[in-house]
Amino acid sequence: MSDSATGRSSGDGDGTRVVRAGLPEPVKYEPTLPGPAFAAHYHLPGEPTGPYTYGRDENPTWTLLEHAVGELEAPGQEGVETLVFASGMAAISAVLFSQLRAGDTVVLPSDGYQALPLVRTQLEAYGIEVRTAPTGNDAQLEVLDGAKLVLLETPSNPGLDVCDIRRLAEAAHAHGALVAVDNTLATALGQRPLELGADFAVASGTKQLTGHGDVLLGYVAGRDAEAMAAVRRWRKIVGAIPGPMEAWLAHRSIATLQLRVDRQSATALAVAEALRERPEVTGLRYPGLPDDPSYKVASQQMRRYGCVVSFTLPTRARADRFLDALRLVDDATSFGGVRSTAERRGRWGGDAVPEGFIRLSVGAEDPEDLVADVLRALDESAE
Ligand SMILES: *Cc1c(COP(=O)(O)O)cnc(C)c1O
Repeated sequence: MSDSATGRSSGDGDGTRVVRAGLPEPVKYEPTLPGPAFAAHYHLPGEPTGPYTYGRDENPTWTLLEHAVGELEAPGQEGVETLVFASGMAAISAVLFSQLRAGDTVVLPSDGYQALPLVRTQLEAYGIEVRTAPTGNDAQLEVLDGAKLVLLETPSNPGLDVCDIRRLAEAAHAHGALVAVDNTLATALGQRPLELGADFAVASGTKQLTGHGDVLLGYVAGRDAEAMAAVRRWRKIVGAIPGPMEAWLAHRSIATLQLRVDRQSATALAVAEALRERPEVTGLRYPGLPDDPSYKVASQQMRRYGCVVSFTLPTRARADRFLDALRLVDDATSFGGVRSTAERRGRWGGDAVPEGFIRLSVGAEDPEDLVADVLRALDESAE
């Protein structure tokens, strides 16, 4: 699979692919990545046919970004379509609400992203039956009967459990259900759900995909033309579209995705290894630690293990003191950015986690500096 004009080949390494992902063919005197196309409408004499008619339907800056994401989620695969959205929730909701009808049944993770319970209430208000199952040990297998759609989130946020995408997709398909995988935490460089049998890869681009904590974005990539037409129609109806500036910033950021993901994953492993030695730390989770409960399945389906480490400190007060004492880690929500962040996840009230549970997102700082900061903050936060 090569494209001589753009220099792309799906056989290249990830670093090579991300710097060229989605770029248009070179045109003399034009920039490599054209700037954002700020347009509510386009010149359109005569018959109103596409590709560009009105700004809620299509935008050339989205088109380039959609090509980039598609090349990363499904390298070399024909017929995969990608649509970008205003946020991860816009993308996830587009799949759920465009595919499900009153009387249908959907399976959601019980330990997934904290906005899913709100989505559940809305689905139920529309007469859709919602079942939930935890991510670990492929528990969804027990609740597939009669389901129309299954949403997996692996690794789960914030618990970092992992499920076997290939196994669950096969089982779901045998029951006639479609499968969507939330690929936010892993990114397309960490795992490729469509290759593992999923029908949709959905993600928040707000996290590591864009990686600088300055953009909200989401996307859906899917291989079923009819299902994707419904997702596209949903985007048009709801209007949950990204601004051209956000789309362009996202595309620009993807060029460094491999550098960031490799660095952040390697440092996350170093931080997890350091935390493992500490007696006050319990419930340490990182899918890339060989003795983690997620490791066996993660090592089969993931190519990188992500930037999030989670663990529990003995009390809420200890966790708060620890967060206070960190110098290089901002006390903030979200994850995947170049600057490390951490938070006491229980402060939101939405996740079933202990009071002292910390979700730490490892940034692009020097690993030695970050590990030293974490260990010092642990010492300083002790009574
Ligand atoms: C953040 C997040 C979302 C929601 O994304 P937004 O861009 O904030 O709407 C969905 N799923 C997971 C796993 C997330 O971490």
